[in-house]
Amino acid sequence: MCGSRVAIVDCLARGSRLKRFATQDVIGVGPRLVSGILHDLGHEAKVIQCEEAYKVSNALSGFEALFVSGMSTDIPSMLKLVSRWSGGPAIAGGPSFVDYLRLIYSGYNFVVWGEGELTIPSLIDYLNGKKELDEVPNLIYKVGNHVIRNPGPRWANKPVLWGFTPSVKDITSYPGWWGARVYVEVVRGCSNFFRPTLPLRNGRTCIFCDLCRKGSLIQRLKCPIDIPPGCGYCSVPSLFGPARSRPMEQIVDEVKSLIKLGVKRIVLSAPDFLDYGRDWLVSPDPLTNPREPPPNIDAIDNLLYRLTSISEVSTEETYIMVENLKPNLVTEESAKVLGRYLRGTPVNLGLESGDPQHHIALGRPSRVDEVFRAVKLLKKYGLRPYVYVIHGLPGENERVIESTLKAVKKVWDLGSEKITLYRFTPLKGTAFEGFPKPPPAVKSKAKSLYELVRKLNKEGKLRLKGRKLKAIPVNRGKDGLIAYALPHGPVIIIESNNTSLIGRVVEVKVDKVLSDRLVKGFLIT
Ligand code: SF4
Repeated sequence: MCGSRVAIVDCLARGSRLKRFATQDVIGVGPRLVSGILHDLGHEAKVIQCEEAYKVSNALSGFEALFVSGMSTDIPSMLKLVSRWSGGPAIAGGPSFVDYLRLIYSGYNFVVWGEGELTIPSLIDYLNGKKELDEVPNLIYKVGNHVIRNPGPRWANKPVLWGFTPSVKDITSYPGWWGARVYVEVVRGCSNFFRPTLPLRNGRTCIFCDLCRKGSLIQRLKCPIDIPPGCGYCSVPSLFGPARSRPMEQIVDEVKSLIKLGVKRIVLSAPDFLDYGRDWLVSPDPLTNPREPPPNIDAIDNLLYRLTSISEVSTEETYIMVENLKPNLVTEESAKVLGRYLRGTPVNLGLESGDPQHHIALGRPSRVDEVFRAVKLLKKYGLRPYVYVIHGLPGENERVIESTLKAVKKVWDLGSEKITLYRFTPLKGTAFEGFPKPPPAVKSKAKSLYELVRKLNKEGKLRLKGRKLKAIPVNRGKDGLIAYALPHGPVIIIESNNTSLIGRVVEVKVDKVLSDRLVKGFLIT
């Protein structure tokens, strides 16, 4: 195993069909980080796309170990892939680790529970004969008919955390990488250790001890009746721990390397970007309060100043964006600092449920009125707020749908540019584990919500008609070039067959709205 060739297959968002149908322009952090860890440990690691690894006959030949990254919903693709593997150890990781039994009983030798930094170095030592199997923290494997899960830390801390450098060169294995949104990790974990108060499937219901809302930062880690932390539908705090910020120097170095390679769109990835540097204000305690202290404006200002001072960013050859914000942390001050550096870029806010009581009962860190305030402030300072909603959640009823319809109309009127309606998925390791998955919105009582969201998003796209946009063609489709809008927007079909434009920034005038996700345009330059 020493110095060996390792394949890292990215199955993220492939579902059961070994193909990405949504978020095709996203390059996530996980596989690049695993590649970086293996590289730092002296191995030759290569990221390969799931489609290629499965369909191209010799794509995995010559590799001595296989790492596969995916979410729970990607397990069918991960299983198909491992059935093709005949080399050395097959190791599964990424958020799919919560379904480790399925992975272990279907061909994977090992599953890495949680953060790779904690397990991969010891696993490599074991494979090199330098450690015993039971010494590898957080590793899951089978001995005879028994599945063993080794104990280990619940989450990584420094120096292990941020001790490895995510691979930059591996992004070139992604089709259209030059136009993709490349995610750069800035915060690991989430500060929301509130918990839902709705009755749960395992028979537990909050006893209102208030520890997770009013206790000390340490006390909030543990609920006396073991309700997992965070919003009931989200697994981030229970599986990846409280928010921990990455050192600024590392972020700046990684962004510079990506820009040097030719990346045009970079997303600062964090369950909440406004958690950046907030943990430093309460250290050594864990940041388990999603509301206090307020955002660390100096840290955010410093980071964004340094990133937007990179010449390619200041001249708008490359764009920097942030991912998600907690609505309650969007204050006049934090919105102002975001607007100073990120004007014209989109940001995501979770509304999820527009019913004030239901919103809080889900374990949300915010209130509904704070979502409205956040949209207003972000708009005021020149950002483009996108809002998430979830249908089919536990506790959803006619009143909740009615209130959510009103709240969606309100955020739209306040300036939200896009609404994304998700279907609730009961994830393992979350408080809402075990609830049934609801039918698709069109076939459920949330149909009116689906229709409203569709109508508003289409209206939003219609506003683009006649507008000039910068875009980057990434491929040739049957009706022309397929391009991504800069810094972010709908997919654009450009009426041109000039494939030499692929990878170059062009200006396009939008002349037709094809759907709520797709527009058509023609080249100006
Ligand atoms: S979720 Fe748990 S910790 Fe929070 S108030 Fe309820 S019982 Fe207490």
